[in-house]
Amino acid sequence: MFSKILIANRGEIALRILRACREMGIKTVAVHSTADTDAMHVRLADESVCIGPPSVTESYLNKRAILSAAAITGAEAIHPGYGFLSENADFAELVGEHGFVFIGPSPEHIRMMGDKIQAKTTMKKFKVPLVPGSDGALTDLATAKKVADKIGYPVLIKAAAGGGGRGMKVASNESELEEAWQVARAEAKMAFGNDEVYMEKYLDKPKHIEVQIIGDQHGNVLFLGERDCSLQRRHQKVLEEALPTCLTEKERNSIGEIASRAMKQLGYKNAGTLEFLYQDGHFCFIEMNTRLQVEHPVTELVTDVDLVAEQIRVASGERLNFKQKDIHFKGHAIECRINAEDPENFLPNPGKIEVFHSPGGLGVRLDSALYVGYTIPPYYDSLIAKLITYGHDRETAIVRMQRALEEMVITGVKTTIPLHQKILADPEFRKGDYTIHWLENFIEKNKSI
Ligand code: ADP
Repeated sequence: MFSKILIANRGEIALRILRACREMGIKTVAVHSTADTDAMHVRLADESVCIGPPSVTESYLNKRAILSAAAITGAEAIHPGYGFLSENADFAELVGEHGFVFIGPSPEHIRMMGDKIQAKTTMKKFKVPLVPGSDGALTDLATAKKVADKIGYPVLIKAAAGGGGRGMKVASNESELEEAWQVARAEAKMAFGNDEVYMEKYLDKPKHIEVQIIGDQHGNVLFLGERDCSLQRRHQKVLEEALPTCLTEKERNSIGEIASRAMKQLGYKNAGTLEFLYQDGHFCFIEMNTRLQVEHPVTELVTDVDLVAEQIRVASGERLNFKQKDIHFKGHAIECRINAEDPENFLPNPGKIEVFHSPGGLGVRLDSALYVGYTIPPYYDSLIAKLITYGHDRETAIVRMQRALEEMVITGVKTTIPLHQKILADPEFRKGDYTIHWLENFIEKNKSI
């Protein structure tokens, strides 16, 4: 096992990793930009190294500075968290070349899944069901039109290098397709420096269901259940649940088996998430994330598995601490992502935290790096807290979330707490009756009230 780990991230996820390390008796190194000198992850780590100015390209994405920090502190492994360098295959490779361990999958698997076309081709080979669409990349508009005619409109043009919903455009007919073709490629070129695109049938009422898996270096792969992440705004998740109540146990087991079999065949190591759209009883694979997800705590609460500890364990060469037969899904968990944003127009609202009261009590978990007097810098993601509740059933988890949100006090910045309160009180949400399009409509509807 490692004795010292460098955490190449900030905010709540840096704390999450730090907590796992501490429980495992592993020393921690925090890295930070000059804007994060007073951040909680810097205060709590055993050591810290400033890696650059506020700009992410010069700090949290600065591979050389992070490697130097690992070298001078004697860290043996690097945990990238999510975002930043977590899905950067070149970084994972560099980490290995410099004699450190990257806490994540192999650079080959990161690269393979980072190219969504290659990811789909690979999954097809392993008999994982896909969304109907183009067979690989589309090279010209004429072929795109042919594929659209075959699968039927509406269709979605997606960037091969996509992420964060960028480079994705819907077309309902042929003339819209011409525009979507241009816009999606231009956006993809701008965002990822790669304008390769592919096409999928645009599903009108799917749920976003994702499957958590983790593999070790001894050929074992665990399936840790699904999450319903359908509540999204601009393709960004807002509230997540585990396990999805829309699935029967049979459906859950079958998709779990498909996912873990595929990952075993691939020889995948460490944590990963296979994302599916689920509609009319069918699962369609859309992409795989080769890292820890923001929403991993809901899985931890229903399985009682510490995902970060398992990531560290398998990266060090140890076996997973659990066998599939040890995993018993229990109860229901919900996560609300709380952002420092205006809940009306979602504009970031960084600033100084004046009052902060953390909710608590039975079944409540708060993952956050906030403290009174902390100034949220304007340079990074606006996620400031993840509030997670657990109950023996969905209704209990919801009521607990409502109670916890009421208890939570954050002043000094605007937050998205009011949006969560509205969602939780909505009868359709209470019935679990929502698709990936529901939240955008809900926000629109609530504007006019
Ligand atoms: P990204 O990597 O940019 O997040 P994804 O492929 O994961 O892209 O898709 C993000 C979200 O976009 C999905 O969770 C879903 O809400 C929506 N989406 C993706 N593909 C489709 C599709 N074929 N039909 C309808 N919605 C889709």
